[in-house]
Amino acid sequence: MVRKMLTKSSVIGLNTYTSDARYLGKVVDFGVDLQNPSNVTIIVEGKDKRYVVPVSYIKAVGDIIILAENAPLDELAESKPSTQVSTQPTTTVTTATPATVSTPSYPTTRVQQPIQQPSTQPVIPRCPTCGTALIYYPQYGKWYCPRCRKYTEVPPAVLSRVPRCPTCGNYLSYIEQYQKWYCYKCGKYVNV
Ligand SMILES: [Zn+2]
Ligand SMILES: [Zn+2]
Repeated sequence: MVRKMLTKSSVIGLNTYTSDARYLGKVVDFGVDLQNPSNVTIIVEGKDKRYVVPVSYIKAVGDIIILAENAPLDELAESKPSTQVSTQPTTTVTTATPATVSTPSYPTTRVQQPIQQPSTQPVIPRCPTCGTALIYYPQYGKWYCPRCRKYTEVPPAVLSRVPRCPTCGNYLSYIEQYQKWYCYKCGKYVNV
């Protein structure tokens, strides 16, 4: 058996078949893996794929090339760069995605509703430390915790729901002992 020397000119243009006689494509080039120079490949250009086939998978070379049975064609196949066109419809899908994203913004509206409903009900400002109902002193414009004996801030969300005195317009203080609202400016209880 004569040892055959594989040259570029001897293989380029040859039709390549798999071991089960399936036509793969034409050899268009020769390649050498720089990481592994002993791995010489032939580039087979098929109809819609190109195959980078190590020469070790070549079973026979004559007028045609026949590949070995164990040639992992799926692994060796490379998709042609022409498939880039298919990314355009994908962009259209991406544009449609923000519309789908905006739909979950409904729960935000739903969250706001329960807040609006109790807003008609008075809210008792309480001390963030001990939970005691705070006293509003109109002369200082401040909220005071009688238990902690200190002034404290009331969050605006709570403040907007604190009932006001119909006479003077100041915030009312909730007297837990009597379960009534009291105006420290007018010095009287107010029905809320
Ligand atoms: Zn307190
Ligand atoms: Zn008042």
